[in-house]
Amino acid sequence: MKKIEMVDLQGQYQQIEAQVNQSVLETIAATKFINGPQVKSFQENLENYLNVKHVIPCANGTDALQIALMALGLQQGDEVITSDFTFAATVEVISLLGLTPVLVDVDPKTYNIDVSAIERVIGPKTKAIIPVHLFGQAADMEEILALAEKNNLYVVEDNAQSIGANYTFSDGTKKKTGALGHMGTTSFFPSKNLGAYGDGGAIFTNDDDLAHSLRGMVNHGMYIRYHHDVVGVNSRLDTLQAAILDIKLNYLDFYNESRKAAALKYNQRLADHPNLVTPFRKGDCDSHVFHQYTLRVLDADRDALVKHLNDNEIPCGVYYPIPLHLQKAYTSKRYKAEDFGVTMQIVNEVISLPMHTELADDQIDFITDTVKSFFG
Ligand SMILES: *Cc1c(COP(=O)(O)O)cnc(C)c1O
Repeated sequence: MKKIEMVDLQGQYQQIEAQVNQSVLETIAATKFINGPQVKSFQENLENYLNVKHVIPCANGTDALQIALMALGLQQGDEVITSDFTFAATVEVISLLGLTPVLVDVDPKTYNIDVSAIERVIGPKTKAIIPVHLFGQAADMEEILALAEKNNLYVVEDNAQSIGANYTFSDGTKKKTGALGHMGTTSFFPSKNLGAYGDGGAIFTNDDDLAHSLRGMVNHGMYIRYHHDVVGVNSRLDTLQAAILDIKLNYLDFYNESRKAAALKYNQRLADHPNLVTPFRKGDCDSHVFHQYTLRVLDADRDALVKHLNDNEIPCGVYYPIPLHLQKAYTSKRYKAEDFGVTMQIVNEVISLPMHTELADDQIDFITDTVKSFFG
């Protein structure tokens, strides 16, 4: 059996090595290191893939979120609602811009933002909602979009973990996550479902005016060369990363299918275990692209299971061990423990098993046998 990795980037690279090496060498030889033609090509191919009008590439997923919020022109103290159970980048950018993050609890089954909890905190200062499609699964977008429309709020989807997932509306219409709200953002961090060989990110929108704002924002607030109309940032996707991503985009559906197949095998082997809750998939089989395969451990010591797996040379992760509302940087008097019942519970129960595009059956067997052996 091959050594088990949390994410097997080497195995994935070997499958496309010749193609990537050739493109990288050609890109270097052409020396158009900044905004080279590969950036435009990848942008257009991603627009087609997502069926979204505009993709604005940038330097990473955190920048993408920050720049998306900058484009909304919000005022100091305006409130932005997001999930208590996500990677810190989502809330960090809100605070960084002088806006007020309002964290809310999540759904106990999907771990995605709880729509009724959003509804409870909407007030006169609320301007935007950032739903995170966590672990690869689409948040309840139909309900969130309706709530946003009713209250005149912007929706910025944090799609860093779910690129390629589909959301199906109740009338049967399907759209890609990230292309549903006013804007969507993603990350091409190497371990994400569409990973570069370094940092990268992008913002998506169907709105021409927002797209125009965003294109200036990522480039020092310049809409005409050396005319700085707004305060912007310098956030670009490297030409080399775009060249690599343009190749990998062709494999994204295949990669996501591999993840789904691995998740299914995990589910089959761990089904009906009294101490384990396997991931819940809401909706169609294409609504979850399994960025993570996350279990909940019931009536047992999750941290002891982590140690048991590590002792058997199985890497695993705890995403995320501390609710954001309890992080020093993001505490606020407005939060009450009882408003975060689900997050408070699941931070002690979740464990993410190795999940990537190269998992072999013998590895999955070994991992699931080792998980089960922990419970005796
Ligand atoms: C990875 C991630 C980000 C940040 O992406 P970077 O490219 O690392 O800046 C933001 N939000 C979520 C939910 C993420 O998983």
